[in-house]
Amino acid sequence: MQREGIIRVVQNLWRDEEARGLSDLELLVYRSRLIGRDPNLVVWGGGNTSIKHEETDFRGRQVRVMRIKGSGSDLKTIEAKHFPGIRLDDLEPLESREAMTDEEMIAFLANTLMEPQAPRPSIETLLHGFVPHPHLDHTHPDAILALTNTADGRRQVESAFGREAIWIPYRRPGFALSREVAEAVKRQPKARCVVLEKHGLITWGRTAKESYDATIEMNTRAEEFARGRGAGRAAFGAVARPALPREARREVAARIAPYLRGLLSGRPLDGGPAKAGIAAALPGAPGAGGGGRVILRFDDGDDVLEFVCSQAAPQLCLAGPATPDHLLYTRPRPLFVEAPAILSAAGGAEALKQALAAGLRKYAGWYDDCFRKHAAGKEARPDPFPRVVLVPGVGMLAAWKDAKHTRIVADIYHHTIRVMRDAQGIGAYRSLDIQDTFDVEYWPMELYKLTLAPPEKELARRVALVTGAAHGIGRAVARLFAAEGSHVAVTDLDGEKAAAVAREICDRQGTDRAIGLRMDVAEEASVEAAFRDTVVAYGGVDVVVSNAGMAHSVPLDRMDLKDWRRSLDVNATGHFLVARAALRVLKDQGIGGGLVFIASKNVLAPGRDFGAYSAAKAAETQLARVLAIEAGEHGIRVNIVNPDAVFQDSRLWSDDVRQERARAHGVSVDQLEDFYRQRNLLKVRVLAEDVAQAVLWLASDRSAKTTGCILPVDGGVREAFPR
Ligand code: ZN
Repeated sequence: MQREGIIRVVQNLWRDEEARGLSDLELLVYRSRLIGRDPNLVVWGGGNTSIKHEETDFRGRQVRVMRIKGSGSDLKTIEAKHFPGIRLDDLEPLESREAMTDEEMIAFLANTLMEPQAPRPSIETLLHGFVPHPHLDHTHPDAILALTNTADGRRQVESAFGREAIWIPYRRPGFALSREVAEAVKRQPKARCVVLEKHGLITWGRTAKESYDATIEMNTRAEEFARGRGAGRAAFGAVARPALPREARREVAARIAPYLRGLLSGRPLDGGPAKAGIAAALPGAPGAGGGGRVILRFDDGDDVLEFVCSQAAPQLCLAGPATPDHLLYTRPRPLFVEAPAILSAAGGAEALKQALAAGLRKYAGWYDDCFRKHAAGKEARPDPFPRVVLVPGVGMLAAWKDAKHTRIVADIYHHTIRVMRDAQGIGAYRSLDIQDTFDVEYWPMELYKLTLAPPEKELARRVALVTGAAHGIGRAVARLFAAEGSHVAVTDLDGEKAAAVAREICDRQGTDRAIGLRMDVAEEASVEAAFRDTVVAYGGVDVVVSNAGMAHSVPLDRMDLKDWRRSLDVNATGHFLVARAALRVLKDQGIGGGLVFIASKNVLAPGRDFGAYSAAKAAETQLARVLAIEAGEHGIRVNIVNPDAVFQDSRLWSDDVRQERARAHGVSVDQLEDFYRQRNLLKVRVLAEDVAQAVLWLASDRSAKTTGCILPVDGGVREAFPR
């Protein structure tokens, strides 16, 4: 698995024909997006850019203004409105001050804004303001970090750039660093860039293009220099444990992920069984507050495997992040799990779970200890857990509040691996020391970025699996759950339509929020595979909506045995297979959960010619009740929804079934919907969305103390009142 040390080369993406005719501010947006597009330069909200020019203020006066990236925006998608304007005449006198706290700096900057409602300017604003050049780029490039994050970073940078680069030793961003950089730039007017130890690069120019070109040039030179110094050789030492084959890696990940997710989501670290009422006691449950559940992402990319399987990984990964900006996402260090000697798809998973629990206990102890020593007096984070878990032979599991953030965590760790590999090739990887790490992790200026996130929705941090979700009730449930913040596995006998529904959800709610899977509920292997894929995608499951069903209408004396059996397979056994798979995952997680069964008004008030359907649905209902009895002690709730006559977009109501039901009720097919409407007390048409609302309530914490219940959504059918 030998790989090139520097696998990607930074490209100059500037195109004169695209830049022609753009205003100053538009050019800033253009160049910022070019930088943001290249993950070798910045990732996920990192880095910042600025211009200094003249603008007309609210009174019509010409004023000198710096436009700089606002906090909380991302260079790759940035727009002009994300660059607050700072009046330079107000800012520049600050440079003669001796010191300034972060809070003073923020308060001061708020008074210099051109538009009072603008986003808060970047925490590196003063640095841009004090350096007199009109265009500035600040990035965190992998290639530069590979030089600075070595035991003799200064010498490496001097060898690579000579007097063209100014070296600034590590210091947390803020007033002091800004002044230090500005003074150094003035002392060395011939320098072309500043290299910040264990942090990144600052370049500048008289034009937007000149500044951007300098960013690319310095990166290219750093890459070439690093390659010449040995970056790219087997930097992580010999293979300590060979990677399992791909399928086996996924199998192991699927076996350990729910257990790990439970531990990271508040289950007791002794790994003991879930206690009764655990759902209510968990962080994130109503009234409990705190961090809540996590979503996991499994990643076994080639670079991840090369690292986790290497001899160097267990020690090297303790060194910490490549740049302070990454810390917000990956925390100070990952958990490296000491995997058992025998590890394969078939064996070792139980021992690996024990190793995970032991590793997390140790990690949490270390973290709490560090917190006491290095962040005394600060308000503690909600949990002392890692965001990256490395499993030799298998890969990486990234953890955070949703799939978007687990992607960010995983992405950043890929860059950490690259920087470590290249730094190891050149010399020996070094990172921030632990005090610096905690200073950044508990730095209010960084934590402020987290407060910009919108409030969490009702089903945030949850994973739901819905069967029969390509149409009708199942699809309405999947859409509603996703809109309420849940991740959704959209499963259906028709895998392509399930994938289409998942894509539609992702378009609306964000990448990775849904996956589409084929599942034949009547086939054991198909059910198991869909649960495994869901667990690999999100780390586990919180809610399972067992909805898939089929209808068949014929008088009993004319019914074929195969039709009877098919109805029982889908409408009864299908629910059993789904429930069994769900229960295994939920118990393994040990953090409660819920199942909602979509049954039918027919269970309580059967109608003629619907024998196979009604009998199987009655079996489903009894299965759900027994499940409620067995699962209660694990905090797992099981409830039933009885809809009636939901025609809209339903495959249950095929033309055949409509004709047969119309015949059974003695009405014409055209009158059938109206017949059902007139039959209920409220005289209403029941829609898939109405059923979805009931399912949402039963899946949410609002029904935290309800299990074993039947909730009708039928407009009121007296003979089907639950009793
Ligand atoms: Zn920075």
